[in-house]
Amino acid sequence: MGTGSVERPRRVAVIGVGIVGACVGWNLSRRGAEVVFIDAGRPGEGVTNWSFSWVNASNKTVRRSYFDLNVAGMAAHRELARTIGPDSWWYPGGHLRWADDPAVEAKFLKTAELLGSWGYRVEVSTGAEVRRRLEPALALPDEVPVLLYPDEAWVHGRHLVGRLVGQVVAAGGELRSATEVRDIGTGADGSVRTVALSDGSRLDVDLVVNAAGPGSSQIAGLVARHLPMRREPGVVTRIDCARAVPIHRAMHAPHIEIRPDSDTSMVLHSREIDALIDTGEEPAELARLLHELARRAVPELADSRIAQTRVAFRPIPADGFPSVGAVPSVPGYYEAVSHSGITLGPVLGRLLAAEILGGERSESLADFRPERFPQ
Ligand SMILES: Cc1cc2nc3c(=O)[nH]c(=O)nc-3n(C[C@H](O)[C@H](O)[C@H](O)COP(=O)(O)OP(=O)(O)OC[C@H]3O[C@@H](n4cnc5c(N)ncnc54)[C@H](O)[C@@H]3O)c2cc1C
Repeated sequence: MGTGSVERPRRVAVIGVGIVGACVGWNLSRRGAEVVFIDAGRPGEGVTNWSFSWVNASNKTVRRSYFDLNVAGMAAHRELARTIGPDSWWYPGGHLRWADDPAVEAKFLKTAELLGSWGYRVEVSTGAEVRRRLEPALALPDEVPVLLYPDEAWVHGRHLVGRLVGQVVAAGGELRSATEVRDIGTGADGSVRTVALSDGSRLDVDLVVNAAGPGSSQIAGLVARHLPMRREPGVVTRIDCARAVPIHRAMHAPHIEIRPDSDTSMVLHSREIDALIDTGEEPAELARLLHELARRAVPELADSRIAQTRVAFRPIPADGFPSVGAVPSVPGYYEAVSHSGITLGPVLGRLLAAEILGGERSESLADFRPERFPQ
């Protein structure tokens, strides 16, 4: 009989348990790593819980490689839903978009044409047809062109995080919540060795993944790395409906984005209202404006009421693109920081786990490597 030594599993601290960290940790655990999730608050209650949560690539035409990554993100969600089951987190059903201004409408139609030429599925319908076939509660003109992106979806981020973390813990992983990462210790060769937490404990680890969302720059600072981030706040409001939610999918109505959040609640967001955050307008007033716009799009929401509002910061590296992968100057330190993290979480989780444990550097991440930020 041979006497070959059995390799110990690699112990990885995943710092931040939003959708991105949960997806990275779940993939690492499935590949045999020992995962320790660490979160300053509770899993899934960061930006992931205050997101419009629309899974799409139609809004990502700014760069072809970014669009392609988001398309891969959509496919990874479908695969994840097949693997763990779709219950309580995965809501396919497509996405609708229309405008009330001819110039904006022309822009939407032009984007749809470009997307079609890239092989992305899009259908053009009319207001009357959409009301008849899909969404009877919408107030929109009969003749207005409506874009339907049938492969898009929305995700309940907090529920998905709960499912993934639950599976990792059931497989022997660990969750440390309500404790902050305060320090990352390195050895004489500069590689990651320990993580110190605000509860006074210090963990021995082989690797760390910085998935701290809006807090990522601070975590990067612990290994003397500068991760420049943009300041881009957004305001999200949840409303309680008096009866069952009157819409069935995520949509961009004129000036307002709306989606279901449960059988009786909805999420509202608008880039136009986000633009008012820095004017000093109170969140309660921003919520009132969102509610008014939503009621214009769906008159049945007349007797709905505002339940919760939060201003959240998008985790966006300075150039607008994700920062994902190893940082060669700090062996054992990896980044997984991204806006569109709802769409991208599952694909980033799969690619990063393959890189960390299998040494596979995916070509799809070539434009999104952490090294592009000069130190
Ligand atoms: C208004 C708005 C609308 C959006 N709409 C969409 C959309 O429609 N589609 C889409 O794909 N994306 C959207 N996004 C972006 C998306 O929500 C985020 O990219 C995604 O949720 C980021 O997930 P995350 O896991 O990186 O961050 P988070 O969910 O914030 O998780 C990070 C975690 O790190 C923890 N943490 C931070 N610092 C520390 C520390 N020092 N120690 C320990 N833990 C720490 C936090 O407690 C938190 O739980 C939107 C964002 C906003 C704000």
